[in-house]
Amino acid sequence: MGRMATSEERTSRRDPRYDVLFEPIEIGPKTLRNRFYQVPHCIGAGSDKPGFQAAHRSIKVEGGWGAVCTEYCSIHPSSDDTMRLSARIWDEGDVHNLSAMTEAVHAENGLAGIELWYGGPHAPCLETRQVPLGPSQVSSEFETGTHCGEMDLDDIQTVQGFYVDAALRARDAGFDIIYIYGGHSYGPVQFLSPYYNHRTDKYGGSLENRARYWIEVLEKVKDAVGSDCAVVTRFAVDTLYGTNGIEIERDGMKFLEMADPYVDLWDVNIGDIRAWGEDAGPSRFYNNGHQVPWTSFVKQVTNKPVVGVGRHVDPDQMVEMIESGTLDIIGAARPSISDPWLPRKIEEGRLEDIRTCIGCNICISRWEIGGPPMICTQNATAGEEYRRGWHPEKFPQKTSDDAILVVGAGPAGSECARVLMERGYITHLVDTAEKVGGHVNGISTLPGLAQWAYHRDYREIQLEKLVNKNRDSQVALGQEPMTVESILDYGADKVVIATGSFWNTDGFNPQTKQPIPGADASLPYVLTPEQVIAGDKPIGNKVLILNYDPYYMASTLAVKLAEEGHAVTVAGIETLNSYMEFTLEAPNMERAYHRLGVEQIEMVASRIEEGRVELYDMAGNNQPRQYRGPGKDPFGPNETHEWFEFDSVVLCTGKHSNNSLYRGLKERRDEWEEKGIKAVYVIGDAQAPRLFADSTFDGHRLAREIEEPNAQWPKPYKREMAVWGTVPSPTKNHEVEYQT
Ligand code: ADP
Ligand code: SF4
Repeated sequence: MGRMATSEERTSRRDPRYDVLFEPIEIGPKTLRNRFYQVPHCIGAGSDKPGFQAAHRSIKVEGGWGAVCTEYCSIHPSSDDTMRLSARIWDEGDVHNLSAMTEAVHAENGLAGIELWYGGPHAPCLETRQVPLGPSQVSSEFETGTHCGEMDLDDIQTVQGFYVDAALRARDAGFDIIYIYGGHSYGPVQFLSPYYNHRTDKYGGSLENRARYWIEVLEKVKDAVGSDCAVVTRFAVDTLYGTNGIEIERDGMKFLEMADPYVDLWDVNIGDIRAWGEDAGPSRFYNNGHQVPWTSFVKQVTNKPVVGVGRHVDPDQMVEMIESGTLDIIGAARPSISDPWLPRKIEEGRLEDIRTCIGCNICISRWEIGGPPMICTQNATAGEEYRRGWHPEKFPQKTSDDAILVVGAGPAGSECARVLMERGYITHLVDTAEKVGGHVNGISTLPGLAQWAYHRDYREIQLEKLVNKNRDSQVALGQEPMTVESILDYGADKVVIATGSFWNTDGFNPQTKQPIPGADASLPYVLTPEQVIAGDKPIGNKVLILNYDPYYMASTLAVKLAEEGHAVTVAGIETLNSYMEFTLEAPNMERAYHRLGVEQIEMVASRIEEGRVELYDMAGNNQPRQYRGPGKDPFGPNETHEWFEFDSVVLCTGKHSNNSLYRGLKERRDEWEEKGIKAVYVIGDAQAPRLFADSTFDGHRLAREIEEPNAQWPKPYKREMAVWGTVPSPTKNHEVEYQT
């Protein structure tokens, strides 16, 4: 495959009002070719998966981003974030691995940045077993049980030396931009912030003293690599907890002035590590550009270029940011994951093709869980560039003339049909609903989730364009429900069932693996989430939401119903949905519960009757364990059962696949050949309920692999692993092979 033309080489069809976004800008000794800049963000590659790292970052440069950066990169084993995966630049091996990224980025005419990280108390060092050092001995408010040691004056020199050594190695690895990371409560900002810094020597006390460590690091790094590389610092200009931390107008601006001589580019954001959803703001709570009230002060005190984030997805707003003097460079993490080709689409005048980030933070959830590669709800190819060879914008052409029927136009079905059509297959996408989008149509009407509908909008627009290109394909909405009979007679060569799932109507739940006695959504006082969303069943004043689901539904319904004036209680295994800790939505959801008076009861349900629900404490059988005979709980009887009065009960107890079509077709397998059907597949929630990011992936995957002998089962992917006794693979010049 030949190299793509760079943005300069392509004929631009962009609207002139976006010209400012494509003006080059100097950052120290380097020139950024335009104003699109992928700030450091985690992907789960680090220096351990060089193929993933190189492919994920360089594909964005191909898509028009002028600079791309690594995630946080540890400078020394005393800054180790295992179980999460950071990059590391400890030795020549890391230099070798990370240079796969810089070479791939340079081949596309982009700049490569590296974010040098020293975590202090927020580095648990689970792998290295070293002691992290910080300005004062404090324990982390983010990690469990991590205390740091306090740096003495020798330690300060030593750690500053680690930055210099790491910067020299980074230059050797080919990086153009070298960060000193002082955002998200890490390293230098711990010295600057009185929240962490309780020193009484020349590194503590006054602002000048607290700033000293950071400024010295910058000075030393600039001396070492400043003529070859741009030196950048990421600065949380306001930690959002008042005088106890950094406030932009009080000390943030002063620090910017003090450190300015040593910085070629300021990368500014807000917030701390404990609540970093204030930086990576979920769309549920924050709109794009939400950091501007803080970051707009920065350019008042520096003439150096400033890059900032805030889920910048709107090209007009980007222009406004630059023209109003708020930012010089548009920084992005999530918008670049969701659409690695965002700048190129602006340049080519095809804004309608932008796959806009929905702000769900599922990408972040993977880092928070630790370990696994990042995924994205909108972009099924994110994280799959190297290992599966998936390019976000290029698709291998079809290898047969099979016509494919996809039943169900939710995230799985619509993505599957889109990719099949991109590949040139005649595809019919059929749904009873009037709109593409499946369950996303309903959930995006809930409070805070309107932007999740971008997921549907992207597919709706693309499908329309693709059908216009190939008139043999169709999107047939508002149809009669398809049946096993109608599918067998349809005339398709292959059938994909993407019929989604339903919330359980009988309280079947993960705790008992049984229905809850009395739970029946055909009764007037019992509702499923779908019924609440549909809004055609009356709901009483006092509502109990029974929740056994870790993600967003129960808490979002709680907010909706409380805002509508109901008295809401949430009870079950989950009261504030735990997965929302990973998506950074939990702290503000907790605030919403408090603001709206949503009550949480740590009890589960044993029985529902009209007007009341029996709840009990799962730890209520609390005797020492002993053998008590058949039918007797070894932990003793549970005497905490109690009736509570409620007018309506909402069951968020679990989901079941809507897979009757798939099962029915499998049962009539002996008729397939006669009807001309070669294969039937099931994808998305219809196979098993899951995140809609994973349903989207599933649809995409099947469309890419539909010619495989047993495409229901994913093909293996390339793994980047050390094989005992062999040369580590991939080697430095290992090519990324995109499917074409
Ligand atoms: P997923 O997340 O797996 O894509 P969704 O529940 O979002 O699942 O979407 C499933 C879609 O399938 C819905 O739009 C629904 O209307 C459609 N659907 C379900 N059963 C049928 C059927 N028998 N015929 C046509 N469409 C169906
Ligand atoms: Fe945006 Fe969600 Fe994708 Fe993250 S996972 S980039 S928030 S769409």
